[in-house]
Amino acid sequence: MTMTTSSNAVDGREISRQAGRRRTFAVISHPDAGKSTLTEALALYSKAIKDAGVTHGKSTRHGTVSDWMGMERERGISISSAALQLEHQAKVLNLVDTPGHADFSEDTYRVLAAVDCAVMLIDAGKGFEPQTVKLLEVCQQRNLPIITVINKWDRPGLDALDLIDQIGERTRMTPVPLSWPVGIAGHFSGLIDLRARRSLRLESVDGGAKPAVEIEVDPGNLEELEAAKWEAALEEAALVGSANGQFNAAAFADAQQTPVFFTAASRNFGIRQLLDMLAEAGPPPTPRLTADASRRGLEAGFSGFVFKVQAGQDTAHRDHIAYVRVCSGMFERGMIVINPRTGRPFATKYAHRVLGQGREVLDVAWPGDVVGLVNAHSLRVGDSLYQDDPVTFPDIPHFSPEHFAAARANDPGRYKQFRRGIDQLDHEGVVQVLRSDVRGDQSPVLAAVGPLQFEVAEQRMRTEFNAPISLDHLPYSVARRVVEGTADIPDNFRGGELLRRPDGEAIALFGDRWKLGHFAEAFPQAVLQTIGAEPSSVVRERN
Ligand code: GDP
Repeated sequence: MTMTTSSNAVDGREISRQAGRRRTFAVISHPDAGKSTLTEALALYSKAIKDAGVTHGKSTRHGTVSDWMGMERERGISISSAALQLEHQAKVLNLVDTPGHADFSEDTYRVLAAVDCAVMLIDAGKGFEPQTVKLLEVCQQRNLPIITVINKWDRPGLDALDLIDQIGERTRMTPVPLSWPVGIAGHFSGLIDLRARRSLRLESVDGGAKPAVEIEVDPGNLEELEAAKWEAALEEAALVGSANGQFNAAAFADAQQTPVFFTAASRNFGIRQLLDMLAEAGPPPTPRLTADASRRGLEAGFSGFVFKVQAGQDTAHRDHIAYVRVCSGMFERGMIVINPRTGRPFATKYAHRVLGQGREVLDVAWPGDVVGLVNAHSLRVGDSLYQDDPVTFPDIPHFSPEHFAAARANDPGRYKQFRRGIDQLDHEGVVQVLRSDVRGDQSPVLAAVGPLQFEVAEQRMRTEFNAPISLDHLPYSVARRVVEGTADIPDNFRGGELLRRPDGEAIALFGDRWKLGHFAEAFPQAVLQTIGAEPSSVVRERN
């Protein structure tokens, strides 16, 4: 059989070794906390390898990073998810990008399904902000290990001990500081590196363009005023240490503990300590849960799943990229893989051809890595892929949409483009598309988790499909799946309407929960199911 090739030939120990070198993580934060700055700083300290197997042919590491960030800037808002690959201490760090916009969307959830750990970035002056809380909740649903980074310590902010308390209350994990700042927020002059047990004076170089200079000091050997600052920091760190205990890798991996770092990303303060910890104690990939509730061993044949599909990244080439997280075995360019949803083989050689156009080609990838498959039009978010040892991974959970709008083409003469664009947006999960006989094909209903998804849809319909649309916002906020055959429900009923997903699934929309109650009285036989997690319940404050 031609499909059985290389992964059988590769030694299982080599797969384990490579997987053990991987740290796949995402940064979660409220906009403006410094995610982009932190990303640049991490890249400055380590070696940028490639971005999701798709680099842009630039050799300087700053070129590569800026391109990756530039993609976001050009589009105004980030609707992309790529991975930046960095090397530090012989470990490969895969930083998977989460959407940067303020709106909560399914994209974020999908990205968090593809990582083994999250870095939660907090602005020292603001503490926990709404988006941080939402993202934290998603991480905790997945029991993801979380590293907490308190950024902008060079600016006046909250008290360090208060912040530690806040982290404990908000995350319900035990915060264990691994670095402690010297000087109150706004006077960040040094760091106690609690892992390396060193006291380091920090100096910014070239306004943050170069790694910070670290000078080891002996706090017992400083003049009085200076010494007091260091003694205070050591005392505070010791205080937290005796209350919260020592760092424990197993407790971190089990999301019981969250290690805490203090940084000033724009000055590169505290970045090395974070990177060292990720490399030395960050969680490597583990055998992934499969749809039949077993675990896919890392050394099994190649497998992975699609967590993001993206089009229009490169308008000149009309790219369509499926991002695959490798779960087991070795991925090799040119490999033929099978998508169990369709049962069809899928040739990754197409990736090769298009990647070859002035871009760096990804030759092999290991568990934890992210592979960008170009022009993989048949792949959908949630699809599994394997080479010769069948496996299906659980579908990535959906969020229940809470915003709905009827779309129509501004120019009825461009109906073909309209239809194609709407189908593509549905396929990628930019929005969910619902239809009904009453509304007709010309007026599908777009369903979104957050309203910003509509703006993305409008923009892409205009620029990419050349079929501008108008949206008529609908007064619904609750959606439920109606189990087929349980009730005969008209398209329009009191307080809501019934629509269908492209796969035929019936979805009922309601103005609010009261209307849902009326519906249950009117159609007592109807069996309703929630659609995935509800974002508004995710926002609830913790107590
Ligand atoms: P993002 O929206 O989370 O990606 O945030 P950015 O990285 O774009 O940062 C937002 C703003 O905060 C920018 O003006 C940064 O220069 C600034 N910033 C980021 N990190 C720091 C820091 O550690 N100290 C200070 N003073 N400013 C920072």
